[in-house]
Amino acid sequence: MVAATFTKQLEAIVGPGHVGEQVLLGRLTTFGVGGPADWLVEPRSVEALQGILRLAAGSGTPVVVLGGGSNVLVADAGVRGVVVRPRLTAISQPGADRVRAEAGVTMNGLVRWLIGRGLAGLEAWAGTPGTVGGAVHGNAHYGGHNLSEHVVEVGVLSTLGALAAVPVTDMGFGYDTSRLFDTHEVVAWVDVRVTPGDPAAMRTVARASLAHRKRTQPLHLPSAGCVFQNPDPSRDRVPDGLPWSAGALVDRAGMKGATVGGAMISAVHANFIVADETATAADIRALIERAREAVRGQWGVELRDEIVYLGEW
Ligand SMILES: Cc1cc2nc3c(=O)[nH]c(=O)nc-3n(C[C@H](O)[C@H](O)[C@H](O)COP(=O)(O)OP(=O)(O)OC[C@H]3O[C@@H](n4cnc5c(N)ncnc54)[C@H](O)[C@@H]3O)c2cc1C
Repeated sequence: MVAATFTKQLEAIVGPGHVGEQVLLGRLTTFGVGGPADWLVEPRSVEALQGILRLAAGSGTPVVVLGGGSNVLVADAGVRGVVVRPRLTAISQPGADRVRAEAGVTMNGLVRWLIGRGLAGLEAWAGTPGTVGGAVHGNAHYGGHNLSEHVVEVGVLSTLGALAAVPVTDMGFGYDTSRLFDTHEVVAWVDVRVTPGDPAAMRTVARASLAHRKRTQPLHLPSAGCVFQNPDPSRDRVPDGLPWSAGALVDRAGMKGATVGGAMISAVHANFIVADETATAADIRALIERAREAVRGQWGVELRDEIVYLGEW
């Protein structure tokens, strides 16, 4: 399809002046690196999101979804096709024990909303960067718990834009994964289970999580959180006496402080790569491969990616 025609068709859905072309994606990610999207659209309703998916499917245009950009590495060459950044930000309470958050709600925004209404369940998740959509996609985890433990149901859109309510048991949730990796469905909303709680007690829990993050993570520098998944006892073999922690393995392999260009393995947390203003996506990716190689070379453990690579590599 001719690019100008596609732009006009997108504008018919999200409004004139609301379709970006060749938009640099770095500023929309916590790493701060990455090249341009052919198109960037930020739908503000589920219907608009459905319209974009239908249009893209009908014209064979690839779709990439971006949430808060806190778990991705966007290629220097950027992303071909349309990048969709859902700006669906409604939160509602469809039942006494259930709260619905749309995909573009930030995890921190949801935690604040719940605490303000005395609804307990997610307060320990304070400080998790990104959106609810991204957290469902990768089944975000904190303190040994997965987000899926709190999920009742997810509203997902098929690649053709059809909406379905999927119970948690059918979401294919596992450590750092969900069925969305295979189906490429898009999260429209998620229902989480809540119970009545005391806001003061919840605030204490939230503050403890924030303090823990501040102590253990290099929050003052651009990163995308943990780069690697921890080894999985059902699939991996870690030699006796070594920790089942990707960060600890990278650390023991002597990689803390290692650099490639503007990317460095954090001295604070070896599963974080931090980027300075000169870093490129290629620097970061090369450093990831060096760390993986170091751990493989020493102990034969193959670390899998937690971060997601987007775009043309
Ligand atoms: C300082 C720091 C600390 C972190 N701490 C944690 C932590 O404690 N626990 C943890 O699990 N993670 C952590 N992360 C990683 C990150 O915050 C989470 O993975 C987060 O859930 C990603 O959400 P996002 O909206 O930023 O997703 P993005 O990074 O934008 O996207 C991640 C993936 O989700 C997909 N996606 C995004 N939105 C949707 C949607 N609506 N529908 C379908 N797919 C979608 C994207 O296509 C991409 O594949 C941390 C990151 C940083 C920078």
